[in-house]
Amino acid sequence: MTRLLTPKDVARIVHHHGLASTLDQLAHAIAEDYARWAAFDKSARVAHHSAEGVIELMPITDSQLYSFKYVNGHPKNHQVGLPTVMAFGVLADVDTGTPTLLSELTLSTALRTAATSALAARHLARPDARVMALIGNGAQSEFQALAFHHLLGITEIRVFDIDPAATDKLARHLGTVPGLQLVRCASTAEAVRGADIVTTVTADKRNATIITPDMLEPGMHINGVGGDCPGKTELHAEVLARGRVVVEFEPQTRVEGDLQQMPADFPVTELHQVLSGAAAGRQSKDEITVFDSVGFALEDFSTLRWLNEQSQALGIGQPLSLIPALTDPRDLFGQLTPERCSTPEVAAAAPIPATRQAGKPVIV
Ligand code: NAD
Repeated sequence: MTRLLTPKDVARIVHHHGLASTLDQLAHAIAEDYARWAAFDKSARVAHHSAEGVIELMPITDSQLYSFKYVNGHPKNHQVGLPTVMAFGVLADVDTGTPTLLSELTLSTALRTAATSALAARHLARPDARVMALIGNGAQSEFQALAFHHLLGITEIRVFDIDPAATDKLARHLGTVPGLQLVRCASTAEAVRGADIVTTVTADKRNATIITPDMLEPGMHINGVGGDCPGKTELHAEVLARGRVVVEFEPQTRVEGDLQQMPADFPVTELHQVLSGAAAGRQSKDEITVFDSVGFALEDFSTLRWLNEQSQALGIGQPLSLIPALTDPRDLFGQLTPERCSTPEVAAAAPIPATRQAGKPVIV
């Protein structure tokens, strides 16, 4: 049986561990898999663009587990009462191809993105960083704020959003977190001034320049999360030119990240190189570093792997009859017998004609 995890199930797993521990465990799982970089068969995600957004499939596999995520990005969705980003994913057994887990990944994407941002910042931000600007206070924002608070020791977050209601919502959730001070700012420039880390997590389908070169200060780390699609960027090209840029999977980020604005030979470092020590993290206290995050399939693989372990250990989730349970694996056609097709509801609505013999397929 495939196991199904709904958003409520994932929330129960998070509540069991607490958010700080969940983010820490996810960061650990993601780091473990980045350390096995060569073991993965990797590809850039497959994106289908439309006027208002994008729908993407993100597959990856190692020799034992395969995963994919379905995810969309529709920045105007809030106007019709839907989130900008919605996702679900599957974990499957490579040896047999059996889908073992079907999980929600909307909540989980916010968790894994924040955990990945914090993981990158551990290596790229100054160790004494305590102040973060958070530009864009939508669905992802609290997760980012708490990941940087719990995993990096950020104690002051300077928040700005063009929609004050988004900042009101963030303040409602985070206004009373012990040891975390929220400062509401009137502009991006005000929020960024004096910040050690700048996280941009806005949603707008255009080449925005949320962070401009005049806002840069020596030693800043930029965690650019919202520029993740062709024609959808957040950082002025000069911000990238003045920083050292770290990406998840270069072939994907060249197309989707803020990096899309730069020449094809603009130098970047991949995150796995920094995590393994093959490439340097921050090199000096004045260096400007940029994590050009777009989200990579490996992070969802790690998340699904972790969720699968947790759901089994905690007994959370429901069995889902997604694949036919066959007594004879070659008798698929037998699934169409009237007995198998009829549920009490179907039988009541449309009784099986008496002329049909039991055990014979319905559709012949
Ligand atoms: P959301 O729509 O819930 O929130 C976006 C917020 O940005 C809104 O409150 C909006 O008012 C604000 N905003 C838009 N333009 C702004 C501007 N110029 N200045 C300040 N605020 C502005 O979206 P979300 O789910 O929070 O996602 C945010 C972004 O992060 C999206 O672009 C999404 O595609 C991206 N994302 C990236 C990853 C990744 O792995 N890199 C993962 C998830 C989401």
